[in-house]
Parts: sequence; C-alpha cells; structure tokens
Amino acid sequence: MSEVTAKRSTNSRGFKNNLEEDEEKIRKIGKLAWKNLVTKQVGLKILEEFNKQETRYPEQSHLGTKDYFKKMSPRKARILFAMRARTMDIRGVRKYMYDDTTCRLCGEHCEDVNHVINECSHITRTFEIKEEEIMSNNVEDPDELVRRMDEFSTKLKEKEKESTCDETVNIQIPVSSLTI
Ligand SMILES: [Zn+2]
Repeated sequence: MSEVTAKRSTNSRGFKNNLEEDEEKIRKIGKLAWKNLVTKQVGLKILEEFNKQETRYPEQSHLGTKDYFKKMSPRKARILFAMRARTMDIRGVRKYMYDDTTCRLCGEHCEDVNHVINECSHITRTFEIKEEEIMSNNVEDPDELVRRMDEFSTKLKEKEKESTCDETVNIQIPVSSLTI
C-alpha cells in the first residue's frame, strides 16, 4: 500500500519517472526493491531537470555530496560552499546590500570574486586561480581558494574593528548639548 502511495505522490509532483504503473506488478516487485527503484528514478529526473537549467553550475553526473565536503574541515568546506553558492560577503556579489562596490581593503578596484582571489594587493598569493575553478566539480586547489577568501574576511574584520575604534575616539560633542 505504501509503495503505491509513494508512486502516486511522486506523480502528483509532475514527475514522469519511467516507473511501472500497474499496481499488481508493483506489489510483485516487493517493497524494498520498489522503494529503491522510485528513489533511483526520482534522482535521475532531478538530475535531468538540473542539467537542463541554464545556470553557472557545471553539468552534474550524479547527485551526492561533493568531494570537498568529505575532504576539508567543516569550517573550510563552509567557506568554499559560500563561495560556490555566492553567499559570501563580497560587495560585488552582494550588490543588493552595497551601493558602493569599491574594495574595502585596498579601496582601489571593484570588490568582486576575481579581485579578492587574484588582484587585491592586501591578499597574499603566488599564482592565479581562475574564477571558474570555484564552480568546478573537482576544485583543483580548494585549500588555497578558501585561504584567500578567509584572509580577505579576516583582514576586513580587523579593518572594520579599527575604524569603529577610531570613530569612538573622534566623536565630537555638539556645542549645543554642552550649553543645555
Ligand atoms: Zn582590494
């Protein structure tokens, strides 16, 4: 019974999943085998739909956890994930948050992903990493990519901390408030 329910709910979401429709035959397949079959076909359908979309993500051959999530520390993997999902705090990426996209570290160029990983004079590096590399299925040097992003975030926090302290020191009390 539950097997059939699973199939119906799948169909109701609009999947054409190459699955048997005859309920008698489904019963003969057996619960576990049917469950595995549904999971497999739904996975294939999701993958097919994903690869059909016009996105900046490369074509995927299978659904599953990316290698970097298995190999890197959780902290590093989170940073790389944010870079791939484009949720990291870079002005050129979060244009909806910042009117000014000038780099907060060097103040010279647009603060975009390429600037942070390859150009900014405040970030140490010895070689170029192509921006497309971030989205690659097998990122060549994930540690170095994460290190540069991390250096940017750390230096930015330090700089913002300093400027907050400066502002506190430089607070000017209006004359009017002294006389009242
Ligand atoms: Zn810069």
